[in-house]
Amino acid sequence: MQNLTKKFLVILIIFALSDVALGVSEVTLNNVKRPNGAILFIVDGFGSSYYYPELTPHALDGNEISKAKTGNLTFGTRILDIRTPHPVTGIAHSVIVTGYSQANEEIVGYTDATIYDVTRQHGFVNLAVMEKGDFKNMREEQDIILFAENNSIDEPLMSIQANKAPADVYELMYDWKMKLPEYLNNLSGKEKYSAYNKWAIDTANAVATHMIKKHPSQRFLLTVNIGAIDSGGHNLGEDDYYRLIEDLDRDFYPVYVTAKENNIALFFTADHGMSFATKNAKRGGHASEKYSEMQESLRIPLVIMSPNTMPAASNGEYGQEDIAPTLLSVLDLPDNLQYADGSSINIKNYASIFIKANTEYRVSLWNAGQKVSESRDSELIFAGLPLNTNYTLKASGDDATYEESLFLNSDKHFNFKPEQGLNYRGVAAVILIFTVIIAGLVMIKRIKD
Ligand SMILES: [Zn+2]
Repeated sequence: MQNLTKKFLVILIIFALSDVALGVSEVTLNNVKRPNGAILFIVDGFGSSYYYPELTPHALDGNEISKAKTGNLTFGTRILDIRTPHPVTGIAHSVIVTGYSQANEEIVGYTDATIYDVTRQHGFVNLAVMEKGDFKNMREEQDIILFAENNSIDEPLMSIQANKAPADVYELMYDWKMKLPEYLNNLSGKEKYSAYNKWAIDTANAVATHMIKKHPSQRFLLTVNIGAIDSGGHNLGEDDYYRLIEDLDRDFYPVYVTAKENNIALFFTADHGMSFATKNAKRGGHASEKYSEMQESLRIPLVIMSPNTMPAASNGEYGQEDIAPTLLSVLDLPDNLQYADGSSINIKNYASIFIKANTEYRVSLWNAGQKVSESRDSELIFAGLPLNTNYTLKASGDDATYEESLFLNSDKHFNFKPEQGLNYRGVAAVILIFTVIIAGLVMIKRIKD
């Protein structure tokens, strides 16, 4: 009986393994330039109303309020109208990383829910430096994160949580954690808030630079949140809020240079904005009923720079849930986000085709009767195809043939896998599991007897 059980177990394991075996085959055509990684830079509580040239901020009472003068935060591709569905820190961060407009902190922890699940499956390391938005499930998505355990600028408490990351990144983050007191020393008020931001910006820049220099072949996604624009809006008021934005404009520049010089995609955005009751109001807000419907709370910046995107200001109405699919598209990664209802914004200067297929299938790509490429894997990526062209995609195996004609105006996704669910393999696995359980129970009963 024991031998039989062992045999069943071995068969079960073989079945299970044959179903999860994952291979990714990437073909990049036409010599396009793809980014080597990405920085997702989230400025907490930063409304685009306060600096986008096209917008003017107003207070609750209708009066025009102060706008920041900036020169460094409008680079690359800029999305003019993009809003958060919920101007609340934890929820808005969840929307950013899941691409789901109804997301919350719990959903971030679900399997295959976030951009981090996709990047990890494609060999990226996920790094983060976050002063806010670093709730438990967000931290657990990261291979390593340096985060603030509290939201106090007067008595900050920074911590590192490492799951799996290069050891030297831990040491680097530790060094930067120890530098925070020097940044804040002898400062108060707006200057202290500004320095708290600058510390996170410099830390993020050091982490990105370190990865580029010391781990050049390791692609990474670095998530950053700076917290003191939000805290400044809440605690210091309207006139310091816009000055903190101007300080950010000055201090952010090195991150832009690092990304630009090293082929790293840069996504600059916010979780939500900020609203004030009047000009010179001493406190602002965004989440409470009084403020949550204001444009100033809802409109967020989205500025993207990448070697494969078209720099332009983009019209059209977008939602915060479109950020995750867009980030994956720019990185040429498949939009396998399980809960997403956002769509990628078409800013890439070429298109890519993402295919899931049976590993037995030959998948080939054709243009004007000529075979462009052929491959065989459970996941295939054909990247770098010229926009607005016609292609034919063919997949064939013993049990099926597929043929799809497509006009490439954006990335395309195809699934050439026969319906999963309860197929013969699933049914066989279920029967086997029950058999093993029953056999086990019988064995236990015999031992007892
Ligand atoms: Zn926030």
